[in-house]
Amino acid sequence: MNDEQQVDELLTKLIEEKNRVLGYPVAKDFDYSRLYEFFKHPINNVGDPYEDNTYKVQTHEMEREVVDFFAELFRADPTDYWGYVTNGGSESNLYGLYLARESHPKAMVYFSESTHYSVRKNIHLLNMQSITIRAQENGELDYEDLENTLQLNRDKPAIILTTFGTTMTEAKDDVSRVKRIIKKLAIQNHYIHCDAALAGSYGPFIEPRIPFDFQDGADSISISGHKFIGSPFPSGVIIAKRSLRDRIARGISYIGSLDTTITGSRNGHSPLFLWYAIKKMGVKGLEERYRHSLETAEYCKQELIKIGVKAWTNPGSITVVFPKVAKSIKNKWQLATDEATHIICMPNVTKPQIDEFILDLVSEKEAVAGVM
Ligand SMILES: *Cc1c(COP(=O)(O)O)cnc(C)c1O
Repeated sequence: MNDEQQVDELLTKLIEEKNRVLGYPVAKDFDYSRLYEFFKHPINNVGDPYEDNTYKVQTHEMEREVVDFFAELFRADPTDYWGYVTNGGSESNLYGLYLARESHPKAMVYFSESTHYSVRKNIHLLNMQSITIRAQENGELDYEDLENTLQLNRDKPAIILTTFGTTMTEAKDDVSRVKRIIKKLAIQNHYIHCDAALAGSYGPFIEPRIPFDFQDGADSISISGHKFIGSPFPSGVIIAKRSLRDRIARGISYIGSLDTTITGSRNGHSPLFLWYAIKKMGVKGLEERYRHSLETAEYCKQELIKIGVKAWTNPGSITVVFPKVAKSIKNKWQLATDEATHIICMPNVTKPQIDEFILDLVSEKEAVAGVM
Protein backbone atom coordinates (compact mmCIF):
# COMPACT_ATOMS: atom_id res chain seq x y z
CA MET A 1 0.00 0.00 0.00
CA ASN A 2 1.44 3.38 -0.92
CA ASP A 3 0.95 6.56 1.09
CA GLU A 4 -1.86 7.80 -1.12
CA GLN A 5 -3.79 4.57 -0.66
CA GLN A 6 -3.23 4.72 3.05
CA VAL A 7 -4.82 8.18 3.19
CA ASP A 8 -7.78 7.00 1.10
CA GLU A 9 -8.25 3.96 3.25
CA LEU A 10 -8.22 5.98 6.43
CA LEU A 11 -10.87 8.28 5.02
CA THR A 12 -13.12 5.38 4.02
CA LYS A 13 -12.75 3.83 7.46
CA LEU A 14 -13.54 7.08 9.29
CA ILE A 15 -16.68 7.64 7.22
CA GLU A 16 -17.85 4.10 7.95
CA GLU A 17 -17.21 4.35 11.68
CA LYS A 18 -18.64 7.83 12.01
CA ASN A 19 -22.16 6.67 11.20
CA ARG A 20 -22.10 4.16 14.00
CA VAL A 21 -21.12 6.42 16.88
CA LEU A 22 -24.03 6.22 19.29
CA GLY A 23 -22.10 6.13 22.55
CA TYR A 24 -20.05 9.31 22.43
CA PRO A 25 -21.31 12.89 22.60
CA VAL A 26 -20.00 14.26 19.33
CA ALA A 27 -22.26 15.98 16.81
CA LYS A 28 -21.39 15.03 13.24
CA ASP A 29 -23.87 17.12 11.29
CA PHE A 30 -21.61 20.04 10.46
CA ASP A 31 -20.39 21.58 7.24
CA TYR A 32 -17.48 23.97 7.47
CA SER A 33 -16.49 23.81 3.81
CA ARG A 34 -16.96 27.60 3.56
CA LEU A 35 -13.91 27.93 5.82
CA TYR A 36 -11.59 25.75 3.76
CA GLU A 37 -9.39 28.68 2.66
CA PHE A 38 -8.40 29.28 6.27
CA PHE A 39 -6.42 26.03 6.31
CA LYS A 40 -3.84 27.75 4.15
CA HIS A 41 -2.86 30.14 6.92
CA PRO A 42 -0.87 29.75 10.14
CA ILE A 43 -3.56 31.09 12.46
CA ASN A 44 -2.48 31.23 16.10
CA ASN A 45 -4.45 32.86 18.91
CA VAL A 46 -1.50 33.13 21.29
CA GLY A 47 -2.23 35.45 24.21
CA ASP A 48 -5.33 36.83 25.87
CA PRO A 49 -8.16 37.33 23.34
CA TYR A 50 -9.03 40.67 24.98
CA GLU A 51 -5.54 42.20 24.80
CA ASP A 52 -3.55 43.70 21.95
CA ASN A 53 -1.18 41.19 20.42
CA THR A 54 1.80 41.64 18.15
CA TYR A 55 1.02 38.41 16.26
CA LYS A 56 -1.73 39.43 13.86
CA VAL A 57 -2.59 36.17 12.07
CA GLN A 58 -5.27 35.45 14.64
CA THR A 59 -9.03 35.24 15.15
CA HIS A 60 -9.34 36.99 18.52
CA GLU A 61 -12.33 39.04 17.43
CA MET A 62 -14.31 35.90 16.62
CA GLU A 63 -13.06 34.30 19.80
CA ARG A 64 -14.45 37.21 21.84
CA GLU A 65 -17.78 36.87 20.06
CA VAL A 66 -17.88 33.17 20.93
CA VAL A 67 -17.23 34.08 24.57
CA ASP A 68 -19.95 36.78 24.40
CA PHE A 69 -22.43 34.27 23.01
CA PHE A 70 -21.93 31.74 25.78
CA ALA A 71 -21.61 34.38 28.51
CA GLU A 72 -25.05 35.63 27.53
CA LEU A 73 -26.44 32.11 27.27
CA PHE A 74 -25.12 31.44 30.78
CA ARG A 75 -26.47 34.75 32.14
CA ALA A 76 -23.10 36.18 33.14
CA ASP A 77 -22.97 39.74 34.52
CA PRO A 78 -22.43 41.76 31.30
CA THR A 79 -19.86 43.94 33.09
CA ASP A 80 -17.93 41.09 34.69
CA TYR A 81 -17.10 38.17 32.44
CA TRP A 82 -14.11 36.90 30.54
CA GLY A 83 -13.19 33.70 28.75
CA TYR A 84 -11.35 32.05 25.91
CA VAL A 85 -11.60 29.13 23.52
CA THR A 86 -9.66 26.15 24.88
CA ASN A 87 -8.58 22.79 23.48
CA GLY A 88 -11.59 21.13 25.07
CA GLY A 89 -13.67 20.68 28.19
CA SER A 90 -10.72 19.24 30.12
CA GLU A 91 -8.62 22.38 29.66
CA SER A 92 -11.67 24.48 30.53
CA ASN A 93 -12.03 22.53 33.78
CA LEU A 94 -8.33 22.98 34.49
CA TYR A 95 -8.76 26.71 34.03
CA GLY A 96 -11.81 26.88 36.30
CA LEU A 97 -9.94 25.05 39.04
CA TYR A 98 -6.87 27.23 38.50
CA LEU A 99 -8.94 30.39 38.98
CA ALA A 100 -10.54 28.83 42.05
CA ARG A 101 -7.16 27.97 43.56
CA GLU A 102 -5.73 31.44 42.92
CA SER A 103 -8.77 32.91 44.68
CA HIS A 104 -8.67 30.43 47.57
CA PRO A 105 -5.19 28.84 47.83
CA LYS A 106 -5.94 26.80 50.95
CA ALA A 107 -9.33 25.54 49.85
CA MET A 108 -10.71 22.03 49.81
CA VAL A 109 -12.19 20.85 46.50
CA TYR A 110 -15.41 18.80 46.63
CA PHE A 111 -16.52 16.76 43.64
CA SER A 112 -18.80 13.78 43.21
CA GLU A 113 -18.01 10.21 42.22
CA SER A 114 -19.56 10.76 38.80
CA THR A 115 -17.31 13.71 37.99
CA HIS A 116 -15.36 13.49 34.71
CA TYR A 117 -11.86 11.98 35.02
CA SER A 118 -10.24 15.23 33.86
CA VAL A 119 -11.17 16.81 37.19
CA ARG A 120 -9.17 14.37 39.36
CA LYS A 121 -6.14 14.82 37.13
CA ASN A 122 -6.50 18.61 37.17
CA ILE A 123 -6.75 18.65 40.97
CA HIS A 124 -3.59 16.55 41.08
CA LEU A 125 -1.79 18.88 38.64
CA LEU A 126 -2.78 21.91 40.71
CA ASN A 127 -1.79 20.15 43.92
CA MET A 128 -5.10 20.88 45.61
CA GLN A 129 -6.72 19.07 48.52
CA SER A 130 -9.93 17.31 47.64
CA ILE A 131 -12.72 15.10 48.94
CA THR A 132 -14.95 12.85 46.84
CA ILE A 133 -18.65 13.18 47.57
CA ARG A 134 -21.09 10.33 47.03
CA ALA A 135 -23.28 10.36 43.94
CA GLN A 136 -26.93 9.36 43.97
CA GLU A 137 -28.06 6.39 41.94
CA ASN A 138 -28.95 8.60 38.94
CA GLY A 139 -25.42 10.06 38.94
CA GLU A 140 -26.35 13.37 40.60
CA LEU A 141 -24.38 14.78 43.53
CA ASP A 142 -25.57 13.51 46.93
CA TYR A 143 -26.41 16.86 48.53
CA GLU A 144 -26.72 15.40 52.01
CA ASP A 145 -23.25 13.90 51.83
CA LEU A 146 -21.97 17.25 50.52
CA GLU A 147 -23.55 19.12 53.42
CA ASN A 148 -22.20 16.73 56.04
CA THR A 149 -18.71 16.79 54.55
CA LEU A 150 -18.68 20.57 54.25
CA GLN A 151 -19.81 20.79 57.86
CA LEU A 152 -16.76 18.81 58.97
CA ASN A 153 -14.43 21.16 57.04
CA ARG A 154 -16.17 24.45 57.76
CA ASP A 155 -12.91 26.16 58.66
CA LYS A 156 -11.60 25.76 55.09
CA PRO A 157 -12.61 27.70 51.98
CA ALA A 158 -14.70 25.46 49.73
CA ILE A 159 -14.37 24.89 45.99
CA ILE A 160 -17.25 22.85 44.65
CA LEU A 161 -17.03 21.22 41.26
CA THR A 162 -20.54 20.57 39.97
CA THR A 163 -21.33 18.66 36.80
CA PHE A 164 -24.08 19.63 34.41
CA GLY A 165 -24.45 16.43 32.45
CA THR A 166 -22.29 13.61 33.85
CA THR A 167 -20.44 11.39 31.41
CA MET A 168 -22.40 8.17 31.96
CA THR A 169 -25.97 9.19 32.87
CA GLU A 170 -26.07 12.92 31.99
CA ALA A 171 -27.09 13.76 35.54
CA LYS A 172 -27.16 17.46 36.41
CA ASP A 173 -26.08 18.85 39.78
CA ASP A 174 -28.28 21.70 41.01
CA VAL A 175 -25.99 24.72 41.53
CA SER A 176 -28.63 26.68 43.48
CA ARG A 177 -28.99 23.83 45.90
CA VAL A 178 -25.22 23.71 46.41
CA LYS A 179 -25.24 27.48 46.95
CA ARG A 180 -27.98 27.16 49.59
CA ILE A 181 -25.93 24.56 51.46
CA ILE A 182 -22.90 26.87 51.48
CA LYS A 183 -25.10 29.71 52.79
CA LYS A 184 -26.68 27.55 55.45
CA LEU A 185 -23.25 26.55 56.75
CA ALA A 186 -22.09 30.18 56.50
CA ILE A 187 -18.93 29.28 54.56
CA GLN A 188 -17.61 32.70 53.59
CA ASN A 189 -14.93 31.76 51.09
CA HIS A 190 -16.28 29.59 48.35
CA TYR A 191 -16.16 29.01 44.60
CA ILE A 192 -18.38 26.95 42.32
CA HIS A 193 -17.08 25.68 38.98
CA CYS A 194 -19.70 24.08 36.75
CA ASP A 195 -18.50 21.45 34.29
CA ALA A 196 -21.13 21.67 31.56
CA ALA A 197 -19.08 20.05 28.79
CA LEU A 198 -21.99 18.47 26.96
CA ALA A 199 -25.21 19.90 28.38
CA GLY A 200 -24.17 23.55 28.83
CA SER A 201 -24.91 24.31 25.17
CA TYR A 202 -28.58 23.43 25.68
CA GLY A 203 -28.87 24.01 29.43
CA PRO A 204 -31.04 27.13 29.09
CA PHE A 205 -33.65 25.22 27.06
CA ILE A 206 -34.23 22.39 29.51
CA GLU A 207 -37.73 22.44 31.01
CA PRO A 208 -38.21 22.57 33.92
CA ARG A 209 -35.01 24.55 34.32
CA ILE A 210 -32.11 22.97 36.21
CA PRO A 211 -29.95 25.66 37.89
CA PHE A 212 -26.36 25.72 36.59
CA ASP A 213 -25.36 29.19 35.38
CA PHE A 214 -23.87 32.44 36.74
CA GLN A 215 -27.17 33.73 38.13
CA ASP A 216 -27.73 30.38 39.79
CA GLY A 217 -24.39 30.75 41.57
CA ALA A 218 -21.57 29.47 39.33
CA ASP A 219 -18.27 31.38 39.28
CA SER A 220 -17.01 29.71 36.11
CA ILE A 221 -18.51 27.36 33.52
CA SER A 222 -16.81 25.08 31.02
CA ILE A 223 -18.12 23.50 27.84
CA SER A 224 -16.76 21.44 24.97
CA GLY A 225 -17.16 22.89 21.47
CA HIS A 226 -16.96 19.62 19.55
CA LYS A 227 -19.77 17.92 21.46
CA PHE A 228 -23.20 19.48 21.02
CA ILE A 229 -22.14 22.08 18.46
CA GLY A 230 -19.75 19.88 16.51
CA SER A 231 -16.35 20.57 15.01
CA PRO A 232 -13.76 18.57 13.04
CA PHE A 233 -11.30 19.01 15.92
CA PRO A 234 -11.77 19.21 19.69
CA SER A 235 -12.36 22.59 21.26
CA GLY A 236 -13.87 24.05 24.39
CA VAL A 237 -14.82 27.31 26.04
CA ILE A 238 -14.24 28.62 29.55
CA ILE A 239 -16.37 31.49 30.81
CA ALA A 240 -15.40 33.07 34.13
CA LYS A 241 -15.83 36.27 36.08
CA ARG A 242 -13.39 38.86 34.78
CA SER A 243 -12.58 40.01 38.30
CA LEU A 244 -11.21 36.53 39.06
CA ARG A 245 -9.12 36.38 35.90
CA ASP A 246 -7.54 39.77 36.68
CA ARG A 247 -5.82 38.22 39.68
CA ILE A 248 -3.77 35.88 37.55
CA ALA A 249 -2.96 38.25 34.71
CA ARG A 250 0.78 38.62 34.29
CA GLY A 251 2.43 40.59 31.51
CA ILE A 252 4.72 38.81 29.06
CA SER A 253 6.73 41.12 26.85
CA TYR A 254 7.60 38.56 24.14
CA ILE A 255 4.08 38.39 22.73
CA GLY A 256 3.08 41.80 24.01
CA SER A 257 0.04 40.37 25.72
CA LEU A 258 -1.06 38.97 29.04
CA ASP A 259 -0.31 35.35 29.82
CA THR A 260 -3.77 34.45 31.07
CA THR A 261 -4.32 31.21 29.14
CA ILE A 262 -3.04 27.70 29.95
CA THR A 263 -1.17 27.12 26.70
CA GLY A 264 0.90 29.68 24.82
CA SER A 265 0.15 29.02 21.17
CA ARG A 266 -3.55 28.36 20.80
CA ASN A 267 -5.67 26.95 18.01
CA GLY A 268 -6.88 29.92 15.98
CA HIS A 269 -9.12 27.88 13.71
CA SER A 270 -11.41 26.51 16.40
CA PRO A 271 -12.72 29.93 17.53
CA LEU A 272 -13.48 30.70 13.89
CA PHE A 273 -15.27 27.37 13.45
CA LEU A 274 -17.28 27.81 16.64
CA TRP A 275 -18.13 31.36 15.63
CA TYR A 276 -19.31 30.14 12.23
CA ALA A 277 -21.47 27.45 13.82
CA ILE A 278 -23.16 29.68 16.39
CA LYS A 279 -23.75 32.43 13.81
CA LYS A 280 -25.47 29.89 11.58
CA MET A 281 -27.50 28.26 14.34
CA GLY A 282 -28.21 31.18 16.62
CA VAL A 283 -29.85 30.58 19.99
CA LYS A 284 -32.98 29.41 18.18
CA GLY A 285 -31.11 26.84 16.14
CA LEU A 286 -29.41 25.51 19.26
CA GLU A 287 -32.78 25.12 20.92
CA GLU A 288 -34.16 23.28 17.89
CA ARG A 289 -31.17 20.93 17.99
CA TYR A 290 -31.94 20.20 21.61
CA ARG A 291 -35.66 19.55 20.98
CA HIS A 292 -34.75 17.18 18.17
CA SER A 293 -32.26 15.30 20.35
CA LEU A 294 -34.73 15.09 23.20
CA GLU A 295 -37.35 13.61 20.90
CA THR A 296 -34.90 11.03 19.54
CA ALA A 297 -33.91 10.10 23.11
CA GLU A 298 -37.54 9.59 24.08
CA TYR A 299 -38.03 7.42 20.99
CA CYS A 300 -34.91 5.40 21.77
CA LYS A 301 -35.99 4.87 25.38
CA GLN A 302 -39.48 3.72 24.39
CA GLU A 303 -38.18 1.35 21.71
CA LEU A 304 -35.77 -0.21 24.21
CA ILE A 305 -38.50 -0.61 26.80
CA LYS A 306 -40.70 -2.26 24.15
CA ILE A 307 -38.16 -5.06 23.68
CA GLY A 308 -37.79 -5.51 27.43
CA VAL A 309 -34.63 -3.49 28.06
CA LYS A 310 -34.68 -1.47 31.29
CA ALA A 311 -33.88 1.92 29.74
CA TRP A 312 -34.15 5.24 31.56
CA THR A 313 -33.16 8.91 31.23
CA ASN A 314 -32.49 11.73 33.67
CA PRO A 315 -34.93 14.67 33.37
CA GLY A 316 -34.31 16.73 30.23
CA SER A 317 -31.44 14.47 29.22
CA ILE A 318 -30.58 13.24 25.71
CA THR A 319 -28.66 10.24 27.08
CA VAL A 320 -30.52 6.94 27.34
CA VAL A 321 -29.06 4.62 29.99
CA PHE A 322 -29.54 0.83 29.99
CA PRO A 323 -27.78 -2.36 31.12
CA LYS A 324 -24.59 -3.49 29.37
CA VAL A 325 -24.98 -5.15 25.97
CA ALA A 326 -23.05 -7.92 24.16
CA LYS A 327 -19.48 -7.04 23.20
CA SER A 328 -20.14 -7.25 19.45
CA ILE A 329 -22.90 -4.64 19.71
CA LYS A 330 -20.85 -2.48 22.04
CA ASN A 331 -18.01 -2.46 19.51
CA LYS A 332 -20.15 -1.91 16.45
CA TRP A 333 -21.97 1.10 17.94
CA GLN A 334 -19.01 2.37 19.98
CA LEU A 335 -20.82 2.36 23.29
CA ALA A 336 -18.97 3.67 26.34
CA THR A 337 -19.67 1.19 29.11
CA ASP A 338 -19.06 0.87 32.86
CA GLU A 339 -21.70 -0.83 35.03
CA ALA A 340 -24.26 0.30 32.48
CA THR A 341 -24.09 1.66 28.96
CA HIS A 342 -25.79 4.48 27.08
CA ILE A 343 -26.81 5.97 23.77
CA ILE A 344 -26.33 9.71 23.49
CA CYS A 345 -28.87 11.12 21.06
CA MET A 346 -26.77 13.88 19.54
CA PRO A 347 -28.47 16.08 16.91
CA ASN A 348 -27.22 13.87 14.04
CA VAL A 349 -28.61 10.63 15.51
CA THR A 350 -31.68 9.51 13.57
CA LYS A 351 -34.61 7.20 14.26
CA PRO A 352 -33.49 4.76 11.51
CA GLN A 353 -30.15 4.43 13.30
CA ILE A 354 -31.97 3.69 16.55
CA ASP A 355 -34.11 1.13 14.69
CA GLU A 356 -31.01 -0.60 13.34
CA PHE A 357 -29.49 -0.70 16.80
CA ILE A 358 -32.70 -2.19 18.23
CA LEU A 359 -32.72 -4.85 15.48
CA ASP A 360 -29.13 -5.76 16.40
CA LEU A 361 -30.15 -6.14 20.04
CA VAL A 362 -33.12 -8.32 19.14
CA SER A 363 -31.04 -10.59 16.84
CA GLU A 364 -28.40 -10.93 19.51
CA LYS A 365 -31.01 -11.93 22.08
CA GLU A 366 -32.54 -14.46 19.70
CA ALA A 367 -29.12 -15.92 18.89
CA VAL A 368 -28.35 -16.33 22.59
CA ALA A 369 -31.78 -17.87 23.25
CA GLY A 370 -31.27 -20.26 20.28
CA VAL A 371 -28.00 -21.56 21.70
CA MET A 372 -29.67 -22.47 25.00
C1 LIG B 1 -16.43 15.38 27.64
C2 LIG B 1 -16.43 15.87 29.02
C3 LIG B 1 -15.32 16.52 29.57
C4 LIG B 1 -14.02 16.66 28.83
O1 LIG B 1 -14.16 17.41 27.72
P1 LIG B 1 -13.10 17.25 26.52
O2 LIG B 1 -13.63 18.26 25.57
O3 LIG B 1 -13.19 15.84 26.05
O4 LIG B 1 -11.77 17.60 27.07
C5 LIG B 1 -15.41 16.99 30.86
N1 LIG B 1 -16.52 16.82 31.59
C6 LIG B 1 -17.60 16.19 31.11
C7 LIG B 1 -18.81 16.05 31.97
C8 LIG B 1 -17.59 15.69 29.80
O5 LIG B 1 -18.68 15.07 29.34
